[in-house]
Amino acid sequence: MIETRLIDGKAFAETLRARIATEVAAFRQATGVTPGLAVVLLGEDPASAVYVRNKGRQTIEAGMASFEHRLPAETSQDDVLALVRALNADPAVHGILVQLPLPAHIDAQAVLATIDPAKDVDGFHVVNAGRLAVGLDALVPCTPLGCVMLLKDTLGSLAGLEAVVVGRSNIVGKPLAQLLLREDATVTIAHSRTRDLPAVCRRADILIGAVGRPEMIKGDWIKPGATVIDVGINRVPKPDGGTRLVGDVAFEEAQGIAGAITPVPGGVGPMTIACLLANTLTAAKRLVG
Ligand code: NDP
Repeated sequence: MIETRLIDGKAFAETLRARIATEVAAFRQATGVTPGLAVVLLGEDPASAVYVRNKGRQTIEAGMASFEHRLPAETSQDDVLALVRALNADPAVHGILVQLPLPAHIDAQAVLATIDPAKDVDGFHVVNAGRLAVGLDALVPCTPLGCVMLLKDTLGSLAGLEAVVVGRSNIVGKPLAQLLLREDATVTIAHSRTRDLPAVCRRADILIGAVGRPEMIKGDWIKPGATVIDVGINRVPKPDGGTRLVGDVAFEEAQGIAGAITPVPGGVGPMTIACLLANTLTAAKRLVG
């Protein structure tokens, strides 16, 4: 029986944030410039409001400036685009993040396309997606970046390893596959039309769940000794009437089979904001030259 190691994303993210804070202090001293992150939130979605609050707090803790723009849900698309253009032109802002999902009357692609790619710290602009795909320097989506940091910390080199990414969204699955390719892994992207998903998953030295379906990936889909990264965040009911968070992987079943696994919560989740801070510092360094 394998002893499954827990990949502690919370601890890793804390160390990363401390390192970023040190780098921010050095950057401020050298340039006189404080890296600034602007976050735009439309409406009152409680989960988004919590994310935005946490982002703001951690941005300030890292020594950067945080600019929050909270707009009513009914704000027009023209007004959102005007705000993004103003942030593009603002020299105090080095990173711009528009919190998704946006209300239905807003064309999210149009908003993302308006963000200056040099300030696109979420890495969702097609210019950054394209640069990543062709192997150029890019601002890379935060959650996939966090996953690869955890993998490299756990495994060292990823070269030659079989990686299976379950999920092909533009914000997680696809950029994660690109990053794994950049690390010389052999990458398969699986999705809802994949035939015999359990067999595909069993090939993986690195198995990533980025689906959004509670505990879909079962213990016997995992190759013994594989490293499992669980991106999924799913809220499920508890017998006492409350709720709890679970990932896309059946965590208990994975014990004794996986070599290492990220828990939910406390695995990939905390890495996302830490990588957002890292991207903001990267953007500031490039913009300030
Ligand atoms: P999407 O809904 O955009 O994409 C889900 C993907 O899973 C799709 O590619 C879909 O395939 C695939 N899928 C759905 N059902 C199945 C199935 N039965 N078998 C195989 N594949 C399937 O989700 P996201 O990528 O945005 O997010 C995925 C999960 O990650 C969610 O739980 C989300 O909450 C979480 N998340 C966590 C973050 C973090 O900070 N930790 C950040 C972002 C997301 P198809 O394309 O064929 O429909």
